[in-house]
Amino acid sequence: MRHNLIDPYSPEGGYYECRSCAHREASDERVTACPECGSDVRNLAVPRE
Ligand SMILES: [Zn+2]
Repeated sequence: MRHNLIDPYSPEGGYYECRSCAHREASDERVTACPECGSDVRNLAVPRE
């Protein structure tokens, strides 16, 4: 059984949501702009100390 689902609270990788169109993008790399509309995105996976 594969466990390949994206966990929005995973400490690994980044999970981003567009502030404008609410598009969600998961990426191992830093995402600074929405791939759909180019607006700012916010990181949903905030590192916790
Ligand atoms: Zn967008």
